[in-house]
Amino acid sequence: MISKVDHIGIAVHSIEESRALYEAMGLEIAEIEEVPQEQVRVAMIPCGSVRLELLEPMSPESPIAKHLEKRGPGLHHVCLGTDDISADDGRLRERGYQLLRDQPTIGAEGALVQFLHPKSGGGVLYELSQPQD
Ligand code: ZN
Repeated sequence: MISKVDHIGIAVHSIEESRALYEAMGLEIAEIEEVPQEQVRVAMIPCGSVRLELLEPMSPESPIAKHLEKRGPGLHHVCLGTDDISADDGRLRERGYQLLRDQPTIGAEGALVQFLHPKSGGGVLYELSQPQD
């Protein structure tokens, strides 16, 4: 069941160059992780019960690089936390919504993730995420 907003993904050219803005807001980068399968470097910034996720491309082939090319830096996706991603994936699929992957895959922090295509998400790229213990 989807029960919360887990994080908000923001595309940036450089985590290092973006750091000053978040520090000026009194926030702090908790950790930086590379996700080679997505060709992306991820910085998590806790903000109350939600986190901001800065996404920096690791190569020109990265989906984030393509997003930056097309739209520039800014809002990239909203991630909803769930405790049963397979059920959510199946229900959305059954009702005709387009998911980006055939099945959930391993993303940042080792969580199982799936994405709802923006065409199916009312213009929003939604990520579903189920933490793995
Ligand atoms: Zn995300």
